[in-house]
Amino acid sequence: MQVMLKECAWESLGDELVVVHDPREAYTLADPDGRIAALLDELARGPATAEELSAALSARGVPVTEDDVRDGLAGLDSLGLVEDAAGRLLGDPDADERHFSNLTFFGVFARLGRPRAEFVRRLRDSHVLVLGAGGGGSSLVQCLAGLGVGALTLVDRDDIAPRNFARQFLYRHADIGRSKVDRAAEWVREYDPGIEVRAVDRWISGPDDLKDLTEDAHLIAGGLDGDPDANLWVNEAALRAGVPWVAGGMTRTQLIYFSVDPGVSACLRCDESDLPDPRERTTAAVAQRLTRGLRLANGLTGPMAMQVGSLVAYEAMRYLTGVEQPRAAGSRVVIDLLDGLVPVWQPFPRDPGCPACALARR
Ligand SMILES: [Zn+2]
Repeated sequence: MQVMLKECAWESLGDELVVVHDPREAYTLADPDGRIAALLDELARGPATAEELSAALSARGVPVTEDDVRDGLAGLDSLGLVEDAAGRLLGDPDADERHFSNLTFFGVFARLGRPRAEFVRRLRDSHVLVLGAGGGGSSLVQCLAGLGVGALTLVDRDDIAPRNFARQFLYRHADIGRSKVDRAAEWVREYDPGIEVRAVDRWISGPDDLKDLTEDAHLIAGGLDGDPDANLWVNEAALRAGVPWVAGGMTRTQLIYFSVDPGVSACLRCDESDLPDPRERTTAAVAQRLTRGLRLANGLTGPMAMQVGSLVAYEAMRYLTGVEQPRAAGSRVVIDLLDGLVPVWQPFPRDPGCPACALARR
């Protein structure tokens, strides 16, 4: 394997070497004989194998074996400073240019044997079912398209209306009255003709209406509104299909997102297991019943809608690429507008008797 050094700067300081890659942290490495500095100098010339590096270092008077070089590279790899040179790009100049920033971003997570191009390929091979092309959905679709998700199925039953314009930047004035999903699909095609996109203009009135849509999806993103139980239908459909689900939205003063990893995390139905019985005559039960029945006018406006859409897209990216573990699995992440937008994690309770989790195919 040809090893490549990521963007780094270093300087010897007595017996130590100070190395910076990510501005958040400078590494201080013990390097009394200057061998690590010499290895970095050689790597900075361009991609090389351990054998080539050992020969080059020996030629400049630093006698090291190939095994010494491999140990040194493993050390640099553990700090995330080197990667597989062949996996830095997709191999098609147009695609590499299109995904320049995606490849650069995934470079953070690339290691020897874990090339950055692989993360982009996983996204291009993914099919995401997007529920809702409204407030959060509009920016979610744009974020997923930017990441280069290869196939999108967009589901919504609304038409574009003037009141959408505070937050739904997919749409133009001239689109008023048109179907949201048709226009959203058109936007995706114009944005990147390489993305396969399907518009489903359908009203969802139960989990069965989602069955055919989840069949070949790798992930469900977004949610449904209109019925207090609508997200429980999606929860059930996701668990039945064994497909992860990421969704988000806004209450009156809180942005919320969460994800469900079927068979792994607690689900949205589990989350209801510790709620009081709404028939009880207790303050908690009455408050719960009133909260559930509350009809909130949608106050999601541009900055919040984009935040929710992008957080859902980022969590979706974690599932689709495996770049890191999903962070919101089995948790509600609450971003409080009245408390400085600092995210707080609220794990769902686990319900061992959850009827929805029992459906998870794994
Ligand atoms: Zn459950």
